[in-house]
Amino acid sequence: MPDTLHAISLDLDDTLWPMRPVLVAAEAALADWLAEHAPATAQIIGSDWRRHRRTELLRRHPDKAHDVTWLRLQMIEDALTEAGEPRDLAGPAFEAFYAARQAVQLYPDVRPVLRRWAGRYRMIAITNGNADIRRIGLGDLFDVTVGAHEVGAAKPDPRIFALACEKAGVRPDQVLHVGDDIDRDVRGARVAGMRAAWVRRPDLPEPQWPDGRAPMEHRFEGLEALERALESSWSHLRNPHADRPSSDPQPKTRSAP
Ligand SMILES: [Mg+2]
Repeated sequence: MPDTLHAISLDLDDTLWPMRPVLVAAEAALADWLAEHAPATAQIIGSDWRRHRRTELLRRHPDKAHDVTWLRLQMIEDALTEAGEPRDLAGPAFEAFYAARQAVQLYPDVRPVLRRWAGRYRMIAITNGNADIRRIGLGDLFDVTVGAHEVGAAKPDPRIFALACEKAGVRPDQVLHVGDDIDRDVRGARVAGMRAAWVRRPDLPEPQWPDGRAPMEHRFEGLEALERALESSWSHLRNPHADRPSSDPQPKTRSAP
């Protein structure tokens, strides 16, 4: 029933802004910072070195695979050590990367749609990355944020969705999760008992779905298309595996129209 929708959770990267341009800019900001403050490190920390080091770090620390901030800091520290430059430059070097990583270009539908949803639903941000919605200027539109680093697991692991529900005070079947990734967002949320909407962005490549596990009726070309669907009828978004009697009304819940 429409009035069982209490919360909307949103993926961030490639759902609210394109991720690649901001990561390219953040890598460039890090390279510039190192060129000025740790030139020998700047010489060695190219993309091949990073790829190789990342593989090595993940082999030694598989439990850290979900923690992109830890991986980035560790790579910078390793490069500084290898170059014979002070390891305590890692903090400010990371900050140069991190600040640029927050300078995202929002898709134009993000602020208007999220503002309307924030007046009606509890709003949850769920990310595997290290975007900071407060620094991005979206903090006032979300009630709850959950990052993979605080769970110790990344989407599609159901634990990250479970923590999001716990922090927001809602049941999984009262949440619609919205994201760009078929596996991490759509499948992950459905396994966790949520409903899911796959939002496609036209500037991103069309993903392959060999086993057709994301039903096409869950596909929306942007947030406004999803908003229209929610306002007319969203019964097709129901997750039959998640349906349970609705009996516990939650705070900040308005009935969907
Ligand atoms: Mg994403």
